[in-house]
Amino acid sequence: MFIEPIFPIPYSIFLLFVVGLFFGSFLNVLADRLSMGKTMGGRSMCDSCMHVLSWNDLIPIVSFLILRGKCRYCKAPFSIQYPLVELFTGVIFVITWYFSLHSILIPPDSYLLHSIHLGFAAVLIVMLLADFRYQIIPDEMQIALLILGVSKILYTSIVIGGVGLSVVSQTMGMHALYGLSVMAPLLLVFLITKGRGMGFGDVKLAFVMGLILGLLPGFLALYIGFVIGGIVGGILLLTKKGKRKTKIAFGPFLILGLYTMIFFENEIVLFVSKIYGF
Ligand SMILES: [Zn+2]
Repeated sequence: MFIEPIFPIPYSIFLLFVVGLFFGSFLNVLADRLSMGKTMGGRSMCDSCMHVLSWNDLIPIVSFLILRGKCRYCKAPFSIQYPLVELFTGVIFVITWYFSLHSILIPPDSYLLHSIHLGFAAVLIVMLLADFRYQIIPDEMQIALLILGVSKILYTSIVIGGVGLSVVSQTMGMHALYGLSVMAPLLLVFLITKGRGMGFGDVKLAFVMGLILGLLPGFLALYIGFVIGGIVGGILLLTKKGKRKTKIAFGPFLILGLYTMIFFENEIVLFVSKIYGF
């Protein structure tokens, strides 16, 4: 039976957007608690008066608007970051679903794969938040990304590729090697600069990127990260917003490179091979 693609039915887009808003609220908390080494148990509370927040203080976007960005109990202002991240997550969920559904490499009715891609988006958003706010990429998120990546490789090779188990273990071994290869240049920078040029979180992320994407796409993701990171760094230097010594977080650009390559591997490999003529 042919399953109708969910897009472009508007109410589904809206539903996914709302799910994204609530996920955004959760990812906000996840990024803070993982970075500060807190557990995920316990209720959300106001950072100023420590009053436990009730359900109607925690509705994405809506609560922020109704309370005009202030705590109901002590009137301390909440950061505008929180509703913005909720909105961002809603939009990214819709965009990710769209990209996944329209990717050349993925059959449109592979809903499990589309869901894995939503998982990628969620994990990458937490990494992005943690790196911006605390200059940390939580290990829990690296592991979550790794598990999602392995699930994708297994699904793609067994369900879509139809290969046997012995071949699958070979494939996994190859992907581990890809991870090590893509990680190698960053590890080198890390060792040469004794950790001043790059955090070890970035090195670990490069391994997961190589494992998920494969060899050439993995290196292209690094390349995209370096180019965009270089451009942004250059602009910051020129506008004197950053001094030469300002450490530019490299993680967000790696994350951007990974996200781009997950959905546009074909297009980018074609584009790059045209430029460099291979
Ligand atoms: Zn308060």
